[in-house]
Order: sequence, then C-alpha cells, then structure tokens
Amino acid sequence: MATKTATKSVPKTKLSPLKKNSNGVLPHKIVSIDSKKLKDMENVFSLQKKKALELRHSTTKQRIKKLKSLKDLIFKYQPEIREALRADFNKSETETDLSEILPSIAECRDAIRHLKYWMKPVRANTPITLFGAVSEIHYEPRGTVLIIAPWNYPFHLAFAPIVGAIAAGNTVILKPSEYTPHTSALTKKMLAELFPEEEVAVFEGDHTVSTALTDLPFDHIFFTGSTNVGKIIMERASKHLTSVTLELGGKSPAIITDGADIKKAAHSILWGKFLNAGQTCVAPDYLLIPESKVDDFVEQAKKTVKKFFGSETEDKSSSKDFCRIVNARNFERVSGYIKEAVIKGAKIELGGEVDASQNFIAPTILSKIPKDSKIMEDEIFGPVLPIITYKNLDEAIDFVNSKPKPLALYIFTKDEKKINKILKSTSSGGAVINDLIIHLANSHLPFGGVNHSGHGSYHGFFGFKQFSHERSVLKQSPVSAIKMMYPPYNNLAKKLVDITTKYLA
Ligand code: NAD
Repeated sequence: MATKTATKSVPKTKLSPLKKNSNGVLPHKIVSIDSKKLKDMENVFSLQKKKALELRHSTTKQRIKKLKSLKDLIFKYQPEIREALRADFNKSETETDLSEILPSIAECRDAIRHLKYWMKPVRANTPITLFGAVSEIHYEPRGTVLIIAPWNYPFHLAFAPIVGAIAAGNTVILKPSEYTPHTSALTKKMLAELFPEEEVAVFEGDHTVSTALTDLPFDHIFFTGSTNVGKIIMERASKHLTSVTLELGGKSPAIITDGADIKKAAHSILWGKFLNAGQTCVAPDYLLIPESKVDDFVEQAKKTVKKFFGSETEDKSSSKDFCRIVNARNFERVSGYIKEAVIKGAKIELGGEVDASQNFIAPTILSKIPKDSKIMEDEIFGPVLPIITYKNLDEAIDFVNSKPKPLALYIFTKDEKKINKILKSTSSGGAVINDLIIHLANSHLPFGGVNHSGHGSYHGFFGFKQFSHERSVLKQSPVSAIKMMYPPYNNLAKKLVDITTKYLA
C-alpha cells in the first residue's frame, strides 16, 4: 500500500472509501423487488402460518427425524458446499470443513442427542404464598420465524439457526446473503430437497428482500449481521412487536499482559485474525499490548505468518489457505482503512499489499495507530491487525470500556489476578483466556453479544431456547390460600395478608 511496493502480480490500486448513509450503512446496489416475488413471499408466509399451528403438536421423534435428515443432507452435499465456498471467496476446503461443515454437523448432533430433555417441561419452585399449586416452564414453538444470514460463514450461519428453529418446532423462512451467491443458491436447493416450502423456504436477494420480509408479522426474527443493519431490523420488527435475536459484530479486543507467552499468543491471535481473511465476527479486531512487548510480538508475528502462508506476497496471494475479501465494496472499505491510517502516520509492520483485481489484502499488522483513524472506529472485518500499546493494565481496560461492548474479549496472560481484574472491569458477549474463538465450539455455552454486539444467544440448548417461547404454566390446587384473600376483605383475609407479609420479611 502506501509505504510498501506491491509485487508484479499484485498491482497497486486506487482506493476511495465509500460514504455511509445516515444509518451508518454502506450503500448497496439497489435492486427493487418485483411484485411476483412479493406475492410469492406473502403466499409462503401464510402457508407457513397454518403449518406452524400443526407443528405445535410435533413430537420429539418427528423433530429428531428432520434433524437427522438435515445432518445426512450436509454430508451428502459436502463436496458441493466446498465448491460453492471456493467459488464465492476462495475459501479453502479445510477451512470450509472446519468452520462451516463441522460446526453445522455438531449443532445437528447436539440437538438430536438432547432434544428429548430440552423439550420436557421444567418444574419451577412455587412460593409458600401459592401453597399447593404446581409451577412449570413449557417450551413452545415461537411459530413462523425469519432467519437473515450474513455472507462471512454463509453456510454455517444459515444452517445453525435453522437447526435451533426446527428443534423448537417452528416453520422457517431463510434470507441468505446476496454476496455469496453460490452458497446461497446451494442452500436453497438443499433445503428444498428436504422440506416443503410451507415448512422451510428460502428467498434469495439483497436488502430489498429482507425489507419486504420484515414487513410481514413474523413471530421471531433471528438476524446475523452488522450492528448498523441490526438496528434497522430491530426498528422494523417493532412495527409488529416481533421478538428479535441479533447476532452482531463489533471490535473484539485481544489483550496481552506482561509476562504472557508472546510466541504462543502471536500464534493464536494471528490464526484468529487471518482465519477467513479476518472476516469473522469473533476475530480479534485489535491488539492491546504493553509498549515493551511490541517488538517481540512483531517478530513472532512475522514468523507465524511466514509459517501459515509464506513470506513473499506471491506466496500469500497464491496460498489456497488464505481467502479473499468477499467483494469489491468490502475490499475498498478495508484497504481504505489501511491507507487512511498510514497517511495519518501508522507504521506497516507486516503486509500492506493489496490487489483489487482479486480482492486480495495481504495479512497486515499496523502499529503507531493515530487515535482518530477510522480503523479504530469501525469493525475491521478484514486481515488487518492494529497494535495499540499501553503502560499499565488500567489504561488497557479504560480503552476497552471507551468503546461499545464487544462480541468477544481475549486475554493472554499467566496471571490469574489479571484475568479476574479484566473480566470484572469489562463486559463482552463472550471471553476466552489464552486462546481465541474456540468458545463458540462449546455448545454448552450461550453464544451471543451484549448491547451493541447483539441481543440473545444460541448454540445447543440456547438455540432451542431462543426459538421457543418460555411459557409459564401454573396449575392451581383445589385448596388455595389465595382464595381466602378475595373480597370482601374480612378479618381473616387481613390476618392472612399480615401473616404472609411478616413471613416474607
Ligand atoms: P450485513 O448486516 O451487511 O448483512 C446481513 C444480512 O442483512 C444480509 O442477508 C443482507 O442482505 C441483509 N441486509 C443488509 N442490509 C440490509 C438492510 N438495510 N435492511 C435489511 N436487511 C439488510 O452483514 P454482512 O456484511 O453480511 O456480515 C458481516 C457482519 O456480520 C459483521 O459485522 C460481523 O461481525 C457480523 N457477524 C456477526 C456474527 C455473530 O454471530 N454475532 C456472525 C457473523 C457475522
């Protein structure tokens, strides 16, 4: 980029960052939705509304059968899924297996194994004031749900919520991303093979399709995508008071403390940063590190990148294991961040080469970041790691707290006291100590954000729960103390209220 000369096969490119609209959303290519498609959506929606009533009665056995078929379908289409992701943004076969197919299969397996327990009503305590009554929580399907998926893990982030929705007994309309057309078309074909559209339907297209869909009174919307679009979805859902799950992004920090193993930390951080070319919601967005450790980190980082993708730009751009930025719009956005930071005085420690013809941005590390750089405002969502230095841990904590609550926070340290201090002083959707991203591979942990990084969570039981309504059911006993407190309020009623209040004191 600005300070590094790109090699012959990686020509320099002119960069002009796109201007955002008033919602903070980058402009899209406007494709208006035709009236036939609109009618089709409305028809499918009303068919699904009817089907949803029928599915309320579906048994554990019936739902498990569907989940097993879904799992088999993923195995059957594994070669096509790999091809689609390679065609969409040069994603490597192994990375597709690791980050799209494996977690989708794991999600199905978990639901198949545990659905019997998840669906059981849960007995709740009953207070002494309601003596004799029996209290339970019943998990009932929400009904007809809309799932809007992003492009960055286009297969897994469409299938994982579908597993939760089917396990919970809902009908589903999926709107996959327009930026990964091969994977989206394949997803539609696969789901149509298994489900009638009155149960699961897919509508492809851009934001105009989401807009038309969010006009319909869904029972729940599960949205995965950017924070700015999440705000639009929440606003649109409010029209029908539709409940929403928002799986959003944000700037997830990685903090290295004094005394940490820098070599191990560099290895993990760069794996997490360059996986999917940084286009991962839980990728470490930026690094906070003591000033005295920067040189050591950069040295280890260079060795790590060489090991992962090679040392020359040609090695990295021809590596089958390093994918591309999904499209020109995002290429311009990310390379614009590097350009702007460098113009303002940032130092390129590693990488910096770009090739617009391939949407290629080399694994890049920047230091000496000016405070007012855009790269420290927006979620980067690309293979660029800015290094921010700190003098003492409080300074690092203040830096994290000066930004909206992130989706993940990573701590690299050997010091238990520092772990506790950071965890207690900050907030994030999830946190990992001495590693990255792997928390989402544990389906016994809820995965989701907090405030700016999202509302609600899923994976495993939490996905089933997210797509269910927790209905409170209280069965009254024939003899009830509460009935003695009905009007007219005689002395006995007064005494009973008095005794109960004193008992609770
Ligand atoms: P995006 O918000 O641009 O798009 C997501 C979906 O919303 C797409 O299907 C798109 O067609 C639709 N959409 C776009 N604009 C819309 C509008 N104005 N109205 C209605 N629908 C609209 O996100 P993206 O670029 O596809 O994905 C990247 C973002 O998603 C990043 O911010 C990342 O952090 C986040 N993400 C979060 C998670 C998570 O689990 N928390 C996972 C992956 C990605």
